[in-house]
Amino acid sequence: MSRENEKIAIVGAGLGGAVAGALLQHAGFDVNVYEQAPSFSRLGAGIHMGPNVLKIFERIGVDRQVIDISSTPTHWFSRDGMTGDYRSRIPLEGYGATYCTVHRGDLQAIQCDALQPGTLHFGKKLARVDDNGTDVLIEFEDGTSVRADIVIGADGINSRVRETLLGEEKPNYSGWVGHRALISSDKLKKFDLTFEDCVKWWGPDRHMMVYYTTARRDEYYYVTGVPHPAWEFDSAFVDSSREEMAAAFDGYHPIIQALIDSTDTVTKWPLFNRNPLPLWSKGRLVLLGDACHPMKPHMAQGAAMAIEDAAMLTRCLQETGISDFNTAFKLYEANRRDRATRVQTVSNANTFLLNQEDPSWVYGYDIYAEPLKSENAA
Ligand code: FAD
Repeated sequence: MSRENEKIAIVGAGLGGAVAGALLQHAGFDVNVYEQAPSFSRLGAGIHMGPNVLKIFERIGVDRQVIDISSTPTHWFSRDGMTGDYRSRIPLEGYGATYCTVHRGDLQAIQCDALQPGTLHFGKKLARVDDNGTDVLIEFEDGTSVRADIVIGADGINSRVRETLLGEEKPNYSGWVGHRALISSDKLKKFDLTFEDCVKWWGPDRHMMVYYTTARRDEYYYVTGVPHPAWEFDSAFVDSSREEMAAAFDGYHPIIQALIDSTDTVTKWPLFNRNPLPLWSKGRLVLLGDACHPMKPHMAQGAAMAIEDAAMLTRCLQETGISDFNTAFKLYEANRRDRATRVQTVSNANTFLLNQEDPSWVYGYDIYAEPLKSENAA
């Protein structure tokens, strides 16, 4: 039974959009999600989901499923990339929910399955949104269109919805790339080395974050941050190579060399960001996640912020109803802007957990326990 007759359209079924859809549907809203990809495949990447996110997963009933397929490290270790000396040992337990590291594709499948059957529409690339003041016309590149009362732009860093609100503007290339590789744990058995559950190796200007992506620990994953003067490719990522990795981490610790030796395929992704946006919504259109506040991924909290946005936006719409979307959107921004901007700033600086510190402000956060700030606090 729909909470109101009004309809919500979400553009993008990425990590933020799918959870937004599921949360809003659980709250009784009539929601459809439109995704440009023809389908999702299990691309080679892992992701951290901190306790701040698991508390949200509980609301859509997928927390147990996510924990069951994830590795659940007890610590985040930060180590010197050359000597292996420990810079910090950060406990990942005691924040009110589990800390998970997981394969991104497996996580996305669980999130999409949490949507009501028939409400996720693949192959729908947004071409144009037109807010005529009474409702919104959404036109797709395949020539079809739908109408909705409000539209949530969860369409990532190159968001078409953001462009509609603020005009065309390319994101800023940060000067860094991330290499990503998945390694079968069998390949690591020949080394007389200990491969920790979750460890970040730090060099002066680069790093390698390493963790398992499955509960069975049969898949190990690394993602780097390495300076790279320009991004001259049109695609979202390009192939890298073991040789390129060996050159980038020449002289680094034997564990890093073992990981590079064991690499079959590795890809290279440009890291982009944007300055904080002057607005998060206008009329019947509202943004969340990377469409709104993309960041370098060095805190492993980019998707977490998209999911927290989804939870707060749902809370605000429950508070006001869709008909007062104006107030809901103002409340949403007032309750998200400071935290998202703080995480964006720390993530871009790449200092999080390098030294011993208390990460409670990130992991201990429970979006449902926070009193709502008034809309005028924005
Ligand atoms: P996305 O996940 O990018 O989803 C956007 C969706 O919109 C996509 O499915 C896309 O196909 C769709 N779309 C785009 N345009 C259109 C259109 N015109 N019409 C219809 N659909 C469209 N975050 C973490 O929390 N933890 C991590 O460990 C982590 N590691 C990272 C490692 C790397 C190397 C990178 C680059 C990022 C990492 N992040 C991590 C960040 C995280 O991936 C993003 O912040 C997160 O995916 C943002 O979610 P989103 O839903 O806003 O956007």
